[in-house]
Amino acid sequence: MSEPQEILIAGGGPVGLVTGYALAKQGIPVTVFDENDELQEDPRAATTHPATLELLGQLGVIDQVIAQGLVSPIFRFWDRPTGEMVAEFDHALLKDDTPYPFVVQCEQFKLTHILLDLIAGLDNCEVKFSHRVTGLGVTADSVSVDVETPGGSEKFTGRYLIGCDGGRSLVRKEMDIDFEGFTWAERFLVLTTPFDFEAGRGMCYRNYIADPEEWCNCFKVAGDGPPGLWRTVYPADPDAPEESLMGDDFVQNKLQNFFPQGEGYDIVHRNLYTVHQRVAATFRKGPVLLAGDASHVNNSIGGMGLNGGIQDAMNLAEKLAQVWKGDADESLLDRYDVQRRTYAKDYVQQQTIQNKKRLEAKDAQARKRSQDELRAMAADPGKARAFMLKTSMIEAMRAIED
Ligand SMILES: Cc1cc2nc3c(=O)[nH]c(=O)nc-3n(C[C@H](O)[C@H](O)[C@H](O)COP(=O)(O)OP(=O)(O)OC[C@H]3O[C@@H](n4cnc5c(N)ncnc54)[C@H](O)[C@@H]3O)c2cc1C
Repeated sequence: MSEPQEILIAGGGPVGLVTGYALAKQGIPVTVFDENDELQEDPRAATTHPATLELLGQLGVIDQVIAQGLVSPIFRFWDRPTGEMVAEFDHALLKDDTPYPFVVQCEQFKLTHILLDLIAGLDNCEVKFSHRVTGLGVTADSVSVDVETPGGSEKFTGRYLIGCDGGRSLVRKEMDIDFEGFTWAERFLVLTTPFDFEAGRGMCYRNYIADPEEWCNCFKVAGDGPPGLWRTVYPADPDAPEESLMGDDFVQNKLQNFFPQGEGYDIVHRNLYTVHQRVAATFRKGPVLLAGDASHVNNSIGGMGLNGGIQDAMNLAEKLAQVWKGDADESLLDRYDVQRRTYAKDYVQQQTIQNKKRLEAKDAQARKRSQDELRAMAADPGKARAFMLKTSMIEAMRAIED
């Protein structure tokens, strides 16, 4: 009997679909399983950094992502107690470093729709919705998954399995891979409103507002088109019950405390997220690989989680295609593990923890030092470029390629 050739992917979120499309474009047969009955209108990720835009360019979807998102060249740091704008950074300083010297604010559900449409035009990639992976088994040259389908339980067998099944990954757990790190006590509350913070408050499309009591991030996303929507993110009291944090009075007060105005806010979404900093102990165990949130999770300040996941997907698809075609041996998959796990641990975890500490610093001296540092970097084009090579994820991408 011939060996199975298919690549199986658990999870049809943004990372599963990028991986599936990138592999299928290279002629490899792929099946993606997702437990939902259709794509989710997921309001999580939006900020897509230059390093990731370059990869979306290679994948051939960059024009659609830019067309459906908001191009955002600048970002700002603010100090809430004084109301002062501390520093502004302009990606234009990266014009010689990347063809995309800007961030694109494009919601992750738009990316998944773009990819699903492209996959529909290929005959070697299938996305099976309402298919929940419930277990798996590994042999010397194949992987099988048990899948709960609308017609009952089925078994599918492939040559490799990629777990793109999110932070609670069943694939990671079934393979007994530790998810090392910690969970923050506070959750993040996200309130979305059409109120125009640019006209009303002098905000640009990406703002980080520091406050020793209660920081805030304020972003614009395109939504269904002009005028767009604004997302505000706050830390939530760890001891408060979810019902009170999500209640009408509480969310109105939250926005009014930060951004007082005469009228009530029109709040179109309210979401509460538990926040983790974790990285899987390995991204590869035999023929099973992990990518995206299944392999690493972090707080959303700086917008790096999905960026890292798309970078995993593109890195893995390139290497796995070589191995699948017999152009490289399987040790190349260990390089995927080393490169992407190093990136997640040494860069994304450190950077996102530092981003959070910068916003919430309570000690007056530490806050002053941090703000003086931001001002000094913003005032010096060389230092500002060096800072943005980090925030845009370009520096770390270059480092792991070396
Ligand atoms: C408030 C917030 C804001 C964020 N903002 C940003 C940002 O601006 N930029 C950024 O880069 N990142 C951001 N992130 C992080 C980003 O949302 C995640 O990193 C991203 O969703 C990960 O994509 P994924 O495909 O790996 O996982 P997911 O999006 O979680 O998708 C996993 C998929 O797997 C499916 N699945 C799960 N289990 C099974 C199973 N057993 N069988 C079959 N299917 C299964 C699910 O249905 C889902 O479709 C943010 C996160 C939050 C919470």
